[in-house]
Amino acid sequence: MVTVNRNYLKLPGSYLFSTIGKKVNAYQSENPDKKIIRLGIGDVTQPLAPAIIESLHEGVEEMAHAETFHGYAPDLGYEFLRSAISRNDYQARGCDISEDEIFVSDGAKSDSGNIQEIFGIDNKVAVCDPVYPVYVDTNVMAGRSGEYNPGRENFDGIIYMPCREENGFLPEFPSEVPDLIYLCFPNNPTGSAITKDELQKWVDYANQNGSVIIYDAAYEAYISEENIPHSIYECDGAKTCAIELKSFSKNAGFTGVRLGYTVVPKALERDGVKLHSLWARRHGTKFNGAPYIVQKAGAAVYSEAGKAQLKEQVAYYMRNAKVIYEGLSEAGFSVSGGVNAPYIWLKTPDRMTSWEFFDYLLEKVNVVGTPGSGFGAHGEGYFRLTAFGTYENTVEAIERMKKM
Ligand SMILES: *Cc1c(COP(=O)(O)O)cnc(C)c1O
Repeated sequence: MVTVNRNYLKLPGSYLFSTIGKKVNAYQSENPDKKIIRLGIGDVTQPLAPAIIESLHEGVEEMAHAETFHGYAPDLGYEFLRSAISRNDYQARGCDISEDEIFVSDGAKSDSGNIQEIFGIDNKVAVCDPVYPVYVDTNVMAGRSGEYNPGRENFDGIIYMPCREENGFLPEFPSEVPDLIYLCFPNNPTGSAITKDELQKWVDYANQNGSVIIYDAAYEAYISEENIPHSIYECDGAKTCAIELKSFSKNAGFTGVRLGYTVVPKALERDGVKLHSLWARRHGTKFNGAPYIVQKAGAAVYSEAGKAQLKEQVAYYMRNAKVIYEGLSEAGFSVSGGVNAPYIWLKTPDRMTSWEFFDYLLEKVNVVGTPGSGFGAHGEGYFRLTAFGTYENTVEAIERMKKM
């Protein structure tokens, strides 16, 4: 008789974005004349930069001719892309990461979901609360959790590290030492960033306790302040305790193109095994490489023209972040984030729950955001707005919110 992976049944319905969609659609059909502005979903809106489009076209043209056609890509990614990553994202920042420690993939969501496979099922997992849900759900699916508690809105057997206002929305060391620690900075959903000194403490903690940090740096390109690390490998000793995940989605608009990479340093060993060899094996067996055309486009991210164009694109979104942050601060909201990340995290006024504020905002000013409670129990009473809209819509949304 076939049985199913019953761990999947532990997952409560993923209601967040579907509930948002339903509420927005219902409101719009009852109020067809209202212009709803969406600052909810974490997807980019600007088109791909010209340097990337040019590179994509070249890749397509190469595929049309036998002499330049490319079939299966090398498992770990093309050398031209891995060397561009290692030079630009690491060596230029003083991080000693070589190209054979880089694994090119189809994005950071897959990598952040798949990386847990190389670890034993009995590892204790720690996540921030609120959190990007992929880290938790994939460990639940694998069987690294107990049951879901509807009352506490979390899973037994997972260590939650509350990220509260009084700590700048950074986690504290948990009372029980975890094996796997997921960190994401700059953070989705809170928009908080971690300084190099603070991140160094986590690296030291992981090395002392034999833990592994899985560091999601998807928003690295949005860092504007000096003392914020762009990579965990800027910290001493990170090569013996950290895996880093990167994406081309948020810095270069690849959300619909799909490209990312994972760094597993060769010096990282646990349980007598190099994690690099396990991830290489996993990649080789289960993944047949990101498309040549896409990797070629990815290399354009590191060209001089690409760098200049993407700097402008990030600046465009960060101008929106500033509009949101400053506008809402003036209007008396308690806001954070938005300086090193394209997310603004605001406290709901008048002790409204996250969902009450969602409804209020939708109905009063026709603006859509994301309820903080959708990211974890400690997101309750908070609300996420993204800087990924157009400038005009962002300005209008904030003008409306100021008049509420
Ligand atoms: C958007 C995002 C990613 C990137 O996902 P891709 O699969 O590369 O598009 C990864 N982590 C976090 C926290 C994100 O918000």
